[in-house]
Amino acid sequence: MQIDILGTRYDFIITPKSQYIPPDDLGVVDSGAFCDPFNKKIAIIEEDNKLDQQRLMRHEITHAFFFESGFLKHYDDEDITDWFAVQFPKLIKVFEEIGAI
Ligand SMILES: [Zn+2]
Repeated sequence: MQIDILGTRYDFIITPKSQYIPPDDLGVVDSGAFCDPFNKKIAIIEEDNKLDQQRLMRHEITHAFFFESGFLKHYDDEDITDWFAVQFPKLIKVFEEIGAI
């Protein structure tokens, strides 16, 4: 499927573990998921745990948002990217609670 990241279309692929082939051209440690902003592709390996898979999806999508925002320093920052992935459901809950969105 394709998703919209700040006006840019990305291929978004969830691959079953049995069919997963690690990327060999990104120069990154294989974690079973990646965001390739140059080829506009986000790939996630299917996780057994749904919550883990959702967090991984948020993590890779956050990388793409940083990249498409021009925040290249943050695009490569795994800590801040993962912070958003972990905290986003809590943030949106508070935003909704107070009518901020
Ligand atoms: Zn990452």
